[in-house]
Amino acid sequence: MSVGVLALQGDFREHLHSLTSLGADAHLVRTFDEIQAIEALVIPGGESTTIFKLAKSFGLLELIRAKIAGGMPTYGSCAGMILLAQEIQDPASGQETFGGIEMKVRRNAFGRQVDSFEVDLAVKGIVGDPMRALFIRAPWVESVSPRVEVLASVEIDGELHPVAVRQGAVLATSFHPEITSDTRMHQLFLDGIA
Ligand code: GLN
Repeated sequence: MSVGVLALQGDFREHLHSLTSLGADAHLVRTFDEIQAIEALVIPGGESTTIFKLAKSFGLLELIRAKIAGGMPTYGSCAGMILLAQEIQDPASGQETFGGIEMKVRRNAFGRQVDSFEVDLAVKGIVGDPMRALFIRAPWVESVSPRVEVLASVEIDGELHPVAVRQGAVLATSFHPEITSDTRMHQLFLDGIA
């Protein structure tokens, strides 16, 4: 299974490193032909508005949308999660997504005081110790359809906010496993597409 890491902007090298360290057939993709050839996709953390603008101007938007809608296994972290949402609560002007998960996300949801933080997080499907989850101006999930499975949530002021979700072959996390040495989230993704 050929896994493409979308290399328009963001921490795509870190995702590539996590995937190749697990033995996956992974490589960076940025052209129409490269994306057309892949069987699975990873969308990195970074800036969702920039990734969207670049995908649009390079003529990749409809191709990526169609491949995800057609069932291509896809994993997105942080900005990648935003791009996989059906809807953004507070989009930048003109900002659209690829879609893939029936959820609404809120960008930069954790606010200024906790702009960036780390927590130990139990994630459904991840065996063993909790994951050390790094959040960097991260989104959270505002709402999901019944078809979306919530894998992990963070409690803020007594309210639970989903930060890891899956719908079919599409997986998304608000946090960045790719910038840690913990490859279990990437393994979970690869196990789902094997
Ligand atoms: N706040 C960023 C966005 O809206 C996401 C941050 C990240 O990927 N670390 O795209």
